[in-house]
Amino acid sequence: MINIVIFGAPGAGKGTQAQLLAEKYDFLHISTGDLLRQEVAMQTPTGLRAQDIMNRGDLVGDDIVVPLLARAIKNRSIHPDPDSLVDPWDRELKGDPHRPEGFIIDGFPRTVGQAQALEFLFGKLKRKIDLVVAIDVPREELVRRIHERAAISGRADDTEEVIRHRIELYDLQTKPVLDYYRVSGLLVSVDGSEEISDTNKRICSIIDYKISRTTPENP
Ligand code: AMP
Repeated sequence: MINIVIFGAPGAGKGTQAQLLAEKYDFLHISTGDLLRQEVAMQTPTGLRAQDIMNRGDLVGDDIVVPLLARAIKNRSIHPDPDSLVDPWDRELKGDPHRPEGFIIDGFPRTVGQAQALEFLFGKLKRKIDLVVAIDVPREELVRRIHERAAISGRADDTEEVIRHRIELYDLQTKPVLDYYRVSGLLVSVDGSEEISDTNKRICSIIDYKISRTTPENP
């Protein structure tokens, strides 16, 4: 199975697409935004440190988000019951604690430093990133969706002003990560300006193609 990073500005629909893809392909889905929101909801020390930063729409420091991601990747990499594996591909993994499913990571990396941290974490699990999908949505459409989302979302960082700030940060800090992946040949951009199902179909055909070229013998 392949490991994917999904990218997009606030309002591009990366969370929605990541969830749909996780269901369809059985990916292990990790959203750093969700991990952070859980910490905030539980008022853990990490959550208390992250809360105000998130409410302002700023990026939480790597010292907070990288350990959270590392823990989530590690926890989800362990096969729940390696002894129960029966089919040949699974049996190959018997005794190996790593799960056969791929990861879909959403909301991370947001800086080039985080991209390097992700490579390091995956490297320790003998995994690599196979595909980076960037969902492209024109600025006017993002702004239209932001109006809509600000009206219905319960998120403290979904006010119009904060979302505009998050889009600015995306342009400044997160877009350079796309160049980083473009250079390594992993990046595919997808038009995300239409319906959720249209974008989903486009991404699925890219993933299907990638899977067809990635076999256990030819990882
Ligand atoms: P998201 O749900 O991905 O839009 O993330 C919501 C908020 O969580 C962001 O605006 C940031 O404050 C914080 N956040 C999520 N992922 C990261 C990350 N990789 N690095 C820094 N901050 C993050």
